Amino acid sequence: MNTRRDFLKKAGLASLALQLAPVLSWADRPVAAKAVNEGRVLRVAIMGLGSYGTRVAEAMLSCTRAKLVGVISGTPSKITDWQSRYGIPEKNCYNYENFDAIKDNPDIDAVYIITPNALHHDQVIRVAKAGKHVICEKPMAINAKKGQEMADACKAANVQLLVGYRMHFEPKTLEVIRKRKAGDFGKITFFQGLCGFTIGDPTQWRLNKQLSGGGSMMDIGIYAVNGARYMVGEEPVWVTAQETKTDPVKFREGIDETIQFQFGFPSGAVASCLSTYHMNYLDKFFLNGEKGYAEMQPSTGYGPIIGHTNAGELTQPVTNHQTVQMDEMAAILFDGMQPVVPIDGQEAIRDLKVIDAIYLAAKTGKKIGISI
Ligand code: NAD
Repeated sequence: MNTRRDFLKKAGLASLALQLAPVLSWADRPVAAKAVNEGRVLRVAIMGLGSYGTRVAEAMLSCTRAKLVGVISGTPSKITDWQSRYGIPEKNCYNYENFDAIKDNPDIDAVYIITPNALHHDQVIRVAKAGKHVICEKPMAINAKKGQEMADACKAANVQLLVGYRMHFEPKTLEVIRKRKAGDFGKITFFQGLCGFTIGDPTQWRLNKQLSGGGSMMDIGIYAVNGARYMVGEEPVWVTAQETKTDPVKFREGIDETIQFQFGFPSGAVASCLSTYHMNYLDKFFLNGEKGYAEMQPSTGYGPIIGHTNAGELTQPVTNHQTVQMDEMAAILFDGMQPVVPIDGQEAIRDLKVIDAIYLAAKTGKKIGISI
């Protein structure tokens, strides 16, 4: 899907877009300038050829500025499958033992790490040391301390660190943020984020703390944490949380099944959220203000996102989240474009600080003050 490119071509505005300053966020620019699609192509190697890696690879086939050129995998048969499907040359194929050698490969600009959460830390640091830009999946790390180490390593290596926050480019989400900033909802009073699904196979890495770093909060609850922050437009100053567990065999010690959590913001706005691996049909955001509201359901799934405000339906285009994200990342890395909501390592660390506080609040039963 090339919705924006097609639009620009039809409108005959691509050349105009090229002349516009790249440092402005595209949602704040005139429509004509939403051209991140022209310019240097980001050549990406994917590390971790699993379910989400495959989704990203397929989405990149429709990118105009990002191209899958390499793979890093521990499974030789997957590498050959991907080589034939995506035309990846042998010299751009690596495994987990030898991928440091990517530093000598001038045909790869960035490595996109799409492996189990707890592996991200060491893999990001190794890629940074190899001198390549790093794109890392959420959660970037399993706690804020490790996240900071990753950000520090990227800074020391003079490479950029981006995180797969695909919702930060989703048009209806951006429209709600735009309306909130414009004051359409008045003073924000409340946010609700409900994120969850019923998880299957009990042997999967998501239910193994050594690989996941936690349970539903790390995987799906993070969308409510991040969403609360970008929807309200403030950082929480306190957190409370309550954990419940119906199946202590499937959800062992350190793997949260369901956590309800609440935030307070400096303005006095509050949030009430739920993260779970034990309930279906939970993908809903509600933002309330003194003059209006926005409601989205689904709010963070792959799409289509559906929503309305007090003023009517949200009618922004349906996009392929991963295609748009990768094109936008090329513009961020090469043109210095600033997204409306950041997608860098510091943004991920802010989420991780909040998640650390949620886990502490759930464990102690106390209200935890935080400074982000
Ligand atoms: P997956 O299990 O489908 O794929 C994980 C891949 O990592 C597999 O190819 C596996 O072989 C590989 N791997 C490498 N070392 C491994 C090890 N020691 N143990 C297990 N697997 C190992 O998982 P996924 O759903 O693709 O998730 C991967 C990452 O992507 C996670 O961090 C997850 O949170 C994130 N993710 C993000 C989104 C999103 O919408 N942004 C969606 C799904 C997953």
